[in-house]
Amino acid sequence: MLEDLARLLPTIEAGALDEAAVYRRERAGERADARRRRPGAQLCPICGTSAARFLPFGLFGRPNARCPGCGSVERHRFLWLWLARNTRALSGRLSILHTAPEPCLAARLRPLHGRRYVTVDRFDPAADLRADLAALPLPDGRFDLVISSHTLEHVADDRGAMAEMARVLRPGGTALLMFPYDPRRPTREDPAIDTPAARMAAYGHPWHLRIYGTDVVDRMRAAGLEPTLVDSRRVLSGHRRRRHRINANHLFACRRVVG
Ligand SMILES: [Zn+2]
Repeated sequence: MLEDLARLLPTIEAGALDEAAVYRRERAGERADARRRRPGAQLCPICGTSAARFLPFGLFGRPNARCPGCGSVERHRFLWLWLARNTRALSGRLSILHTAPEPCLAARLRPLHGRRYVTVDRFDPAADLRADLAALPLPDGRFDLVISSHTLEHVADDRGAMAEMARVLRPGGTALLMFPYDPRRPTREDPAIDTPAARMAAYGHPWHLRIYGTDVVDRMRAAGLEPTLVDSRRVLSGHRRRRHRINANHLFACRRVVG
């Protein structure tokens, strides 16, 4: 996706390509690199691919990042290991709502959970539901788990989206939320930053509307979600982070509270 964005940036900044068009292209075109590679020191916990090095990824070609088997990058592998350790998502059957579903995760989760696994996306024609996160066409308390990774920073009404995720979770259910997060600062956002070029300069991405900071927990609590911040460096040993190639990363494990 981001390699594509780097190439397309001049067109995006000229206003000739919008978010929906780019994300449709990504969803339609994303596929794993099928080339055969020799096993090595890196191991993808999602698809089991072993490689001497992973592929470069991102606007600046971050080295050793993307799994050649499933296309996962560091944050997907962190999310996966957290799911494996802390939920029954990989060992039992749960009702799961997955927003803007990453193909590397969806390919594993759907066979495990069947029709209890539901995907939602604003743009992706392959998603089970085409909907805005702030207005989910789903009943209250339907899901055990919501997975939403690198989605909320694209949503104007992110407070409404969090409230909707809480609403569709059963009491005690879990929302696993990831987004660009700076643990040293408050959230940076400004409605006046409203062009792809300005957002690129402010947030490092043409369609991100903010970089979350420490106050994000207040938004979660207001939505009925009680967050626990999980830092990859605190929960994974150095060996595991090197083996699975996981960088300094954060996720929020939020419990649905009622009342
Ligand atoms: Zn993989």
